[in-house]
Amino acid sequence: MEILYSSTRDSGSRVTASQAILKGLADDGGLYVPERIPALEAPMTALADMSYREVAYEVMRLFLTDFTADELRECIRRAYDAKFDTEEIVPVKEAEGAYYLELFHGSTIAFKDMALSILPHLMITAARKNHVENEIVILTATSGDTGKAALAGFAGVAGTKIIVFYPKNGVSPIQEKQMVTQKGDNTFVVGIRGNFDDAQNGVKALFGDRELAAQMAQAGLQFSSANSINIGRLVPQVVYYVYAYAQLLKQGRIREGEKINVVVPTGNFGNILAAFYAKNMGVPIGRLICASNENKVLYDFFETGRYDRNREFKLTSSPSMDILISSNLERLIYWIAGNDAAKNAELMASLKKSGSYEITDRMKEQLADFYGNYADESETAARIREMYENTGYVLDTHTAVASAVYKKYVKDTQDKTVTVIASTASPFKFTRYVMNAIDGGYDAMSDFELVDELSKIGKVAVPRAIEEIRTAPVLHDTVCDKTQMKAVVQRFLGIGA
Ligand SMILES: *Cc1c(COP(=O)(O)O)cnc(C)c1O
Repeated sequence: MEILYSSTRDSGSRVTASQAILKGLADDGGLYVPERIPALEAPMTALADMSYREVAYEVMRLFLTDFTADELRECIRRAYDAKFDTEEIVPVKEAEGAYYLELFHGSTIAFKDMALSILPHLMITAARKNHVENEIVILTATSGDTGKAALAGFAGVAGTKIIVFYPKNGVSPIQEKQMVTQKGDNTFVVGIRGNFDDAQNGVKALFGDRELAAQMAQAGLQFSSANSINIGRLVPQVVYYVYAYAQLLKQGRIREGEKINVVVPTGNFGNILAAFYAKNMGVPIGRLICASNENKVLYDFFETGRYDRNREFKLTSSPSMDILISSNLERLIYWIAGNDAAKNAELMASLKKSGSYEITDRMKEQLADFYGNYADESETAARIREMYENTGYVLDTHTAVASAVYKKYVKDTQDKTVTVIASTASPFKFTRYVMNAIDGGYDAMSDFELVDELSKIGKVAVPRAIEEIRTAPVLHDTVCDKTQMKAVVQRFLGIGA
């Protein structure tokens, strides 16, 4: 049955899935949400015998109803292929009695690959379906992770170009190397002299630049965005929760229908929202455990019903969770308001104006399945060390936050339900921090020496993504001032003066 999408701020207008993917954000500033969550059709026992790609098809076809079977299968085939370093795509590893869902086997060894591997294909298919003749130009500002994952996803995809701006001195050496060695004639990477906010503000200004838009249109180009509020990033994330449940069933870890809990290290709230959608499709999920680092806005929200971003922003060892405004939470707010766009719009206006809002008691009652907690820096480091000492398994910093919060949850509730912990990055992505957490005294070693050391102590091969950049040539060396971003884009695209 067809599913249309409406904005969380105005339930009047409805668009198809492909239109929602092309637009990204609704005109009224709201996020696109499906008018209802479809129920899974295939029985879990059948899903248990399916490959990741087959499960992806079974889930995504129910949301992206205006894609044909062939179109969707082709997008899935191109996304979840040998870019992943394991046939399983997302292995489930048991450690200390919990199940770690390893979402980090793609091109950039972090979970954003799960969605950004398929988004480019969904986008060009959506463009074709809607008779968009223009070539799509993705414009992104990155603080490190998303930029590389987007570059890897869009590289070589016909009908697209991607331009990524990053703060020249604001990303880690490994992150920079990952970006500037990116292959693909359609990829452009630029370091700007400024911080992440400068890059982001510059990109926003380019999106709103009419002169540039006119020049682009004349050249048969148009901008689009790959950021995490795109419904084309959310839907692919629902898949791995369905897959995780099916795999646990297949492996005999749970009985059919038995509930599981899910723990998600959370920043922008996209990943845990996908778990919530999976639950509402019928996957037997009990509690959704939302793990934060010291930027614990979400913990406070689940405790009090009040969202308040007015606080000190902390830089932590889990940078992808250093967020004070979790954009995807808006989709949950809309849901618990009973799909009331006016109520949601009112709260979001308050967030914009004063940095905070408070939900009603009735809305709060609907959050009973969520549990929030957080881990500070020392708890995170201790969790990495303890897990390594107990089992030999090495956690990255983000996953360690989730693991620490899970321990707090069990202590609080005595809940023995089988639990899946979303493992969002490879420890090789945060090698120095992880090695120091396990055992200090590595200050003299270079990043790549530490990588080899981690491989030795963790008894895991160095991921291909890291091995490749060790020797890869630098292919992008453009650096510019923040005032030159427009000129750089014009030069790359061969437009304007
Ligand atoms: C982006 C990211 C997160 C946070 O995910 P959200 O969907 O933004 O909540 C957690 N861990 C890692 C490694 C990430 O890259």
